[in-house]
Amino acid sequence: MKDGTDRQKRHKRNKTIFKVTGIAVLCVALGMIVTGMVDFFSAMGGAGYPERFWMLMVGLPLLAVGFTLTGLGFRREMATYIKNESVPVFNEAGKEIAPGVQSIASAVREGYEGSAQVCPVCGETNREESKFCKKCGAPLKRVCPHCGEEVASDSKFCDKCGEELG
Ligand SMILES: [Zn+2]
Ligand SMILES: [Zn+2]
Repeated sequence: MKDGTDRQKRHKRNKTIFKVTGIAVLCVALGMIVTGMVDFFSAMGGAGYPERFWMLMVGLPLLAVGFTLTGLGFRREMATYIKNESVPVFNEAGKEIAPGVQSIASAVREGYEGSAQVCPVCGETNREESKFCKKCGAPLKRVCPHCGEEVASDSKFCDKCGEELG
């Protein structure tokens, strides 16, 4: 318990060092780059050889180092931020979308196979609740001899009890 707290503290101090060093390096690098650029451009303007041009060459990699150090220092914060902010947003979006997708899927399913039954004799499409074909009068539904459930006349098995229908 105590070790963990110490380690956390040390970790936090390391991160603070990273942040402070990173930002300091960034500042120095930016200063060097600006100095080098100003010197370079004034040299181009005729002020002679750019004596501080090396600052630009050193400043650029230093800037990268500074970014890396700062990134290390802030990584936990960024990860926490991403976890706290993005994931709930994603979950919320999922919760919003999922019922919509489900209702669309069931609507499609109902539209596809619901409220219609084809007469096994003449092929006429009849309403789901029809007991006889509106065209030829053939019975569309039968009663399962095992459980008494009403089944479509072309069913091979009762959809309630699984009894095989002759
Ligand atoms: Zn029919
Ligand atoms: Zn049955």
